[in-house]
Amino acid sequence: MASMLVAEDLSAVGGISLSAAVPVLAAFDYQVAALPTSLLSTHTSGYGRPAILSLADWLPQVFEHWTVAQLQFQQALIGYVGSVELCDLLTAYLRDAQLQLIVVDPVLGDLGKLYAGFDAAYVDAMRRMLTVADVILPNVTEASLLTGVPYQAEPDLARLLTELQQQLKLGAHAIMTGVTQADQIGCAWLVDGQVQFVGQPRLAGHYNGTGDALAAVLAGLLGQGRDLAMSIQLANQWLQAAVAATLALPDHDERQGIQLRPILRAILALDPA
Ligand code: ADP
Ligand code: MG
Repeated sequence: MASMLVAEDLSAVGGISLSAAVPVLAAFDYQVAALPTSLLSTHTSGYGRPAILSLADWLPQVFEHWTVAQLQFQQALIGYVGSVELCDLLTAYLRDAQLQLIVVDPVLGDLGKLYAGFDAAYVDAMRRMLTVADVILPNVTEASLLTGVPYQAEPDLARLLTELQQQLKLGAHAIMTGVTQADQIGCAWLVDGQVQFVGQPRLAGHYNGTGDALAAVLAGLLGQGRDLAMSIQLANQWLQAAVAATLALPDHDERQGIQLRPILRAILALDPA
């Protein structure tokens, strides 16, 4: 069984981030090392101000213990981190850990804006983390923040992707998420300098945790050594099914993350890699 380190915030209520990544990766049959980067009573969208506990004092002790215990993982998925200090700590760990795959979702903002609490220094820390990544998954806002190209809802994908690729190591992939083309929403990336796009019809509404679920699905598929384009295609289909199932819920609480069951079912039905 391959083991995957997942580092992101743990929000007790809301069904996103670490709470969504763990079941997805367990369905793929990874041994999951679930590392919360901070603890929240709820996620930050729709419940008022959550009770937040920073784990900045605890995380260095975790890495020390793992070193002493000689615990090693094959893959890593990094989501919301939250501070420059933690970002640099994780980057240093990842640089030394000799992992086969590092997927970084550079969670920074949405709709053209940085999330509350983040600043230019945090964007710089995220840029440093990108240098160790094999795959990065910025949304359109994050791609603009990381490259310094002014935000546009429908951006010049070739330019953004080319500039992102320049920040990555050789052989690594920048995959932009939440990219809109006509009535479709999906992912864009480069192959031999050409923009590739895979999408599905955009469903009405805005959903929490789509990016987190997409990142977990892609980390799971790529960690099994599956083809990049095929993995992106599957991930988009499954996300679409999950959003559709969420939309179909009769008593849907809009604050809750998306329905994971369609994704879990699809993972269990996969042919062996
Ligand atoms: P985030 O900004 O949280 O990282 P995105 O908005 O990029 O997340 O969403 C990740 C993926 O989820 C998209 O690439 C798409 O595949 C899927 N998705 C998100 N919103 C919708 C929607 N309204 N309809 C269908 N699919 C969606
Ligand atoms: Mg995202």
